Amino acid sequence: MSTIALFFIPLFPIIFHSISADEDEGIMLPHESSIANSGNSILKTMKYAKLIITILGISILLGTVVVALSIATLVKVNQKGGEVLYNAEKSIITSKAVQPSFESTLAASIRIDEVMTYLNELQRIATASNGTRAVNTPGFNATLDYIVNYLTANTNYKVNKNYFDVRNFALATKPILISSINGVKKSYNYSTDISTADFYHVKFSTSANFSNNIQLTAIPNVGCTDDDWLKALPSPEGRVALLKRGMCTYRDKAKYATKYKVAAILFFNDGISPDRVSPLEVNLAQDNAIPALFLSFSVGQSLANAALNLSTNANVQLTIDTKDLPNFPVGNICADTPTGDPTQTIVIGSHSDSKAAGAGINDNGSGTAANLALAVTLARLFRSPTYPRYKYRVRFCWWGAEELGLLGSNYHAREAKSAIVVGERLSDYLVNLNYDMLGSSNYIFGIYDGRTAKNDTPPKALPGSNQVTALFRDWFIRNKLPWDYTDFSGRSDYAAFLAEGIVAGGLFSGADDMKTQQERDRYDKMLGQGLGGISGITHDPCYHKACDSIQNINLFGYEKMVQAAAYALEFLGRQDDLKAWLYPARGTH
Ligand SMILES: [Zn+2]
Repeated sequence: MSTIALFFIPLFPIIFHSISADEDEGIMLPHESSIANSGNSILKTMKYAKLIITILGISILLGTVVVALSIATLVKVNQKGGEVLYNAEKSIITSKAVQPSFESTLAASIRIDEVMTYLNELQRIATASNGTRAVNTPGFNATLDYIVNYLTANTNYKVNKNYFDVRNFALATKPILISSINGVKKSYNYSTDISTADFYHVKFSTSANFSNNIQLTAIPNVGCTDDDWLKALPSPEGRVALLKRGMCTYRDKAKYATKYKVAAILFFNDGISPDRVSPLEVNLAQDNAIPALFLSFSVGQSLANAALNLSTNANVQLTIDTKDLPNFPVGNICADTPTGDPTQTIVIGSHSDSKAAGAGINDNGSGTAANLALAVTLARLFRSPTYPRYKYRVRFCWWGAEELGLLGSNYHAREAKSAIVVGERLSDYLVNLNYDMLGSSNYIFGIYDGRTAKNDTPPKALPGSNQVTALFRDWFIRNKLPWDYTDFSGRSDYAAFLAEGIVAGGLFSGADDMKTQQERDRYDKMLGQGLGGISGITHDPCYHKACDSIQNINLFGYEKMVQAAAYALEFLGRQDDLKAWLYPARGTH
């Protein structure tokens, strides 16, 4: 009986939650108003799918009684099969330092209802603050207060709040964009309602007043390599560059634009699906020195076509008038275990801010709440005489302004680089585990793949990062759960640590990538018929949108991800020589 109950209980949350609906780094930030439209049809599709899945769920329930006995047998067979598979796997993929046991007291002590209490509190904070927890809003400040107060009341950790300044940005007047193709002038529509706008402003653009024609040039591909820029005709220098969405961040594209001395950038959407047509709300680096606008796909593509035809005389005039506002403070929070070697610190990080468009309950309330649960549960265990303390200090951090370009984690890493106080230096950090989006409604169990770290990552961080990848992967395999590798090229807060040669890793349940049929079928097969989510829509259809609310969390998927995070922390905490495990080539200390 208990076997059958255990087999079914975890499946039910997914039946009701699964298909309700994550990147950071400004690759894609549709504005609130456009979201309402494009989000609605997806939500309808999802509601319809929910109904079907609910019916399916009921059928499964009715079928339960009939198949109960055979399932009991199946479970036993699966368990045996699993053990055999695991033993075979173990000899191939796990190093000698990996403990044979996948039992984890910390993972077993995580209570998902408690984690959901934290998430509900974040929703309540957003609802009371115009629906958002973005930096420089009451919702963000209340989020930080909540984390600090909760940690202070429930742990004996040393809690620190550090503020850094972020540049403010505002327009003084509406920007103007006029094209002149073979002398025919056309003026484009700027609107804060992105769904109707031809173009939108770009945060941290500089001012520009080009009232004379400036020639356009369309950068081949997406402008993420020198090759693209060198092949551009006419050459980019002094011209206005049309740059399509894709591959690298807008900040990276702007770096190339600076290098090739363009007069201004016109980003445009790629139009590969109906929700990738409108202009996007994106930001450049705070120290950006180039004027930029963001165009809809149709405007961008038509101008690119004109620019590519060298017999056409393709020009634009544009005006961007920005306003100087005072900087605003943004806080990072870090809480340290009072025990453990501060010169060997495990850093667990997650960003605390949302996008302006919504409450950010999956992005990144889910990581914020998971981090809080890890911190509080570990403090509770450390109070018990039977749970051995870790040799290493654990530092739990909540980064601010991730959504403006990883600002909080970058600030922290920069400060640590020049710190001289023991325990605050970058050299005191052994590893950073990052949790940014763990509860996506149409989730994958995504594991950052150490092998996809950027080419310029210091080599000393690579073996350990691959070890961490394998650590998570082994947990999912052992628990007979599906899993996937996800990109590790710097789209979240681990980037600042990895770039300094600190081992990093983490989990990610998916954002604006499509769930493929293959993924759906594989998850279906391992989790149960109908539970693999919906193929052909993104892993989080509410990513960076107003609908990223408490309804946007998949409870079943979320619970597994938090357990995996707890398992990894305990595993690292219990290593005899964590430094040697993470830095095998340098493990001489
Ligand atoms: Zn995020």
